[in-house]
Order: sequence, then structure tokens, then C-alpha cells
Amino acid sequence: MHETISTDVLIIGGGGAGLRAAVEARDHGASVTMVVKGKYGNSGCTLNVGTSAVVGLNGQNGDTNMSSMRDLVSFGGFLADQKLAKILVDETMDRVQELIEWGADFQREDDGSIALYRSAAHTHVRNFTLKPGENGRQYTYGAPPGWAMMDALMDQAESRGVTVMDDTVLIDLLKNDGRVVGATVLDCRRSAILVVEAKTTILATGTYSHIFGPTTVSPFETGDGHAAAYRVGADLTGMEASQFVATSVGFPPGTRFLNSENEDFLPKYGIDDPRNFAKEPLTYAVWKEIKEGRGFKGDKVMLDMSAAFERKNMPWWFMDLVKEQTEKRGIDLRHEPIASEPRAHTAIGGVAINEKCESTVPGLYAAGAVAGGVYGHARPEGYTSMITVVFGKRAGRYAAEEAKGIADVSIDSAQVRASIAAATDTIDNSASVKPSDIKRKIKATTRRYAWVIKDEEGLSNGLSRIRQIRAETGKLRARGGYDWARALEVHNLLLSAELHFIGSLERKESRGAFFRDDYPDTDNVNWLKNILFRQVDGELALGYEAPDLLYCDPATYEGRLQYQPIANYGTCAAAT
Ligand SMILES: Cc1cc2nc3c(=O)[nH]c(=O)nc-3n(C[C@H](O)[C@H](O)[C@H](O)COP(=O)(O)OP(=O)(O)OC[C@H]3O[C@@H](n4cnc5c(N)ncnc54)[C@H](O)[C@@H]3O)c2cc1C
Repeated sequence: MHETISTDVLIIGGGGAGLRAAVEARDHGASVTMVVKGKYGNSGCTLNVGTSAVVGLNGQNGDTNMSSMRDLVSFGGFLADQKLAKILVDETMDRVQELIEWGADFQREDDGSIALYRSAAHTHVRNFTLKPGENGRQYTYGAPPGWAMMDALMDQAESRGVTVMDDTVLIDLLKNDGRVVGATVLDCRRSAILVVEAKTTILATGTYSHIFGPTTVSPFETGDGHAAAYRVGADLTGMEASQFVATSVGFPPGTRFLNSENEDFLPKYGIDDPRNFAKEPLTYAVWKEIKEGRGFKGDKVMLDMSAAFERKNMPWWFMDLVKEQTEKRGIDLRHEPIASEPRAHTAIGGVAINEKCESTVPGLYAAGAVAGGVYGHARPEGYTSMITVVFGKRAGRYAAEEAKGIADVSIDSAQVRASIAAATDTIDNSASVKPSDIKRKIKATTRRYAWVIKDEEGLSNGLSRIRQIRAETGKLRARGGYDWARALEVHNLLLSAELHFIGSLERKESRGAFFRDDYPDTDNVNWLKNILFRQVDGELALGYEAPDLLYCDPATYEGRLQYQPIANYGTCAAAT
């Protein structure tokens, strides 16, 4: 027998999107149960947020929502759902003001004005940094701006009586009569599977970035929401797209990137000062050098930061880095370069949603990083934090409103039994193979065959290897509920990795953060379309959908695309 819990709205995930959805759903009169992998308030990537972006904090200064949207859409290679991108840009200011009302503050200049700056991916000064209020909580990782968001949202969720089940993980979504009606979840503390029956369900589970390693992303992001949505037949979009960062350490303006021939190689990629460039062109340049055999010790480049010491006003974090390197590693950055390599960052593909955050399966919503389509194939720094609050609020509202019209849900007990049996079948406490053994193999495969710049041969090999790993994966050792959760993750990672390889093979071009060595150009004739991944009768069926170019069209776009120097960044001629 299993325990059953009933709720109007089930929210899976306790980062920015899940919390904002919970607040809104409560405000619309719904009972809310939030299931969180890891500890409530100490899981997910929202804690890592550094910078955010919005138009008009200190007046417009020539900036407009439309120019911000053009940055967003062009940066993502025009694959964004432009209706969603417009919502993001238009609604961000209200959500920022709300966070401030709820206790967060802005990082300010000495005169009290809001400190604003322009990050390389934006044409205008619109980046800002949040800081926590006086009575902030203690977190085990992350950075103050992310803590500020979490503080504000958790205060609101708690004051509204959201039921939180932490250390509890989604196993499967349950469907009846074509609708999602709840989920099976694993309570890791008790090693027990529960059923949550829900009138509507919101996925807010973050990304599948842990198909890669090393990655910047929190260990909780293993594509569980993506995989569960896929298994109930929801469309996923853009699973081939994932961002990387160029370096494993921060670097100040003026840093020279050196290859094994001691060549300062960025200028040959059109990059003068790396701080003026977004992640994508930098990562491309670094990995191209390494891929062509000019890396140090195989897969690293050296960062020479000596010129930074001649500048005044070095950033505070740089002084911390200098201290850390000197004290811990005996490296004097004044005279010695430091080894660095790209890291996987946030994966971009996700559950396809509409403006109400509805997935293609009734009863199932998605918000935050698990939802795809808002940006296209890359995202400029700052808006990824804001998707959580903008679309979290929308998901909470529409899920609660729909729940009001539903009297009762009925769970299909055969489906529950099947879910429990399949989950139980993944583990054996005497098995010799641990979940971490398989995860290591998955990461080694993506590292070898799908890292930054891809090609046909590597992708084909990688796909075969992932399928082989799946075929060879038997029961995994689990001694308790937490290990069991790790074993379930393995299967979600295998699915996410497989879709990533399939989509990457399919897309024969380069666009946004997606680079193919054998197809280096952006092909708007054949590939100005999103790849949809859906399961039909147990098999993957790919679909294709061209974005509606409502506001911004590459045919008439006159600005810089992600490969080109920031100085040439223009505007989108198509939009008015
Ligand atoms: C190192 C780093 C730095 C970043 N810096 C910035 C920045 O400066 N600016 C910016 O805009 N964006 C930044 N981002 C991106 C941004 O942090 C994320 O896009 C955003 O916070 C995602 O929020 P979310 O609520 O969708 O997911 P998350 O905050 O990641 O939350 C996901 C939640 O889902 C839970 N979960 C996962 N699987 C399950 C399951 N099976 N069952 C139950 N719960 C589950 C997790 O435990 C977690 O609670 C950064 C990301 C990283 C990794």
C-alpha cells in the first residue's frame, strides 16, 4: 500500500520558479503542495544567480522593452517563441519591484542609486544585482543575489501556508483520461513511495545539465522533470541546445587567453577584450583551440591576467581570486598564467509551453529552466533569473484557475503500480554498480562527443555509447532513499543525453550556443525551426516548428549575431 496526498496544485521543484508559482497559486485560492529534491531552500540554481536584467530601472536611457527583446531573440538565433520572449521582457519590471517589496534590495552606488551595468550580451545598460535584506537566511552554496531572491520568495511562500515536502523526488507523472492528475514521488528519508493526486501539476525542476561534467549547475538538475514530461507524451523543445562557459575561473578585463603555442589567440576570433564578449563566442574560441590540438595538457588554455594589475579599480572578486590562488595554489597571478577550461552551464531545452505555461498535455504546466522555448538557442545573462519569477507567477495563476474548475481527480491504480514497480526495479542493495558509476560514464560520453563544438562522427559515436550504457545498466546499488533517488536520476539523465545527441545530430547548422564543426554556418533556409521531441506509442517522434517571427526577423536583422564583436551590435530592422 502507498500513502496518498491530495492537493489542488502540485509543484515539483523549490527554486525561483517553483516558489513564485506556489505564491501565486495560493493567492488564487488553491491548496499547494511543493515537492523538493534536496533541502527546501538549499537546492537548485536560483541560489547561484549573480546578475539580472530589466529595462528602465534608472529611467529608459534610450533603452526599450523592444530593444531588449531583440537582444534576447537575436542572441538565441531567432528560435525563441517571440510571444514568450515579449512576456518575459514586459513583465520583468513588475516582478523585480515585487522582489524589492518582499525584502530584497538592489546593490547600490555610494550615492544610493541602483548600480547598473551592461553585460556583454546586452546592447544597453540593464543589468543589476540583488542583495539580501537584513535578516537573510543561511544557505550552503550560491551567491548573495540568488539568496536575495530565495529569501524574498520563501518568506512569501511560508506566509501563505504552502505545504512543502522536501527530500522528496518526483518519480513519474500520472495520467488519466489524457490529463496529468498528479505524480508518484519518493520520500528519501523514509525510502517510501507516495502518490500525490493533484488537479493540476507544475514542473519547476530546472535543467538536465548533469548530463555534462564538469558543470556549473547544482547537482539536483538531472532532467527529472524533462524525462517525466516526455514519458507522459508532452512535447520537449530544443533538447540539443546547452550553454557552456569559457573558463573555470573568473577573469578580469584585459586577460589574455594563451594556447600551447603561447599565442594570444582570441584576436584571431575577432575578440579584443574577452570581458566585452558573451559566453558563446568565447567558449567557441577556447574549445576550437583545444579541439585542434593547441590546448595545454590536452583540454586547457592558460589565462594571463597580469595586465589587469596595471588597471585601477579591479573588481572585488578578482582580488579574492588573487588571494585564493596565492594562498591555496602558490600561483602569483601577477606573473604566472593560470590553467582554465570550459564548463557546461545551463541546458536550454525544455518542456514546450504556451503563454499560460501549459504544456501540450492537459493538467501539466512548466515554468523556469525546465520550460523550453523562451529564448531559442542561447540566453543573454540576466534574464534566466527573471524567467523564474515571470513564468512562475503565470504558471501558478493558470494552474490554480484551472484547478478551481475541477471537482475531483481520479488516479489510475494500474499506473501507480507500474510506476512503483519500475522504480523499485532500478535498485538492489547488493548490486555492485553504483548510480555514480553510470553518471560518470554519461558525463565522459558527452564530454568526449558533445562538448561545445560538435560534429557528425562524434555525435553518432556518442549516441551509440549512450544507448550502450543504457543497455548495460542493470540494477544499481541503493542503500536507502537518497541512493534510490540517485538511481532514478540515472535513467532521466540517459534519456536527456539521448535526446541531446539525437537533436544535435539532426540540427545541421550552428546557431546561438549550438556549434557544429561540420556545419559552421547558421542556415535560416532549412533550420530556422525548433525540433520537438515527443513520445508516441513508446517511440520518439521528432517534430519541427518554425517560430512565429512576430517582432524580429533574421532576414531583416542588421545587428551583430553572437560570433561578431560587440561594437558592431545594431538593432533589428524588422521591428518598429
Ligand atoms: C552557476 C550558475 C550561475 C548562474 N548565474 C545566473 C545569473 O547571474 N543570472 C541569471 O539570470 N541566471 C543565472 N543562472 C541561471 C539561473 O540560476 C537559473 O536559470 C534559474 O535560477 C532556474 O530557476 P528554476 O526555479 O527554474 O530552477 P532551480 O532554481 O534550479 O530549481 C530547481 C528545483 O527543482 C528541484 N528538483 C529537481 N528535480 C526534482 C525532482 N525529481 N523532484 C523534486 N524536485 C526536483 C531542485 O531540487 C530545485 O529545488 C545561473 C546558473 C548557474 C548554474
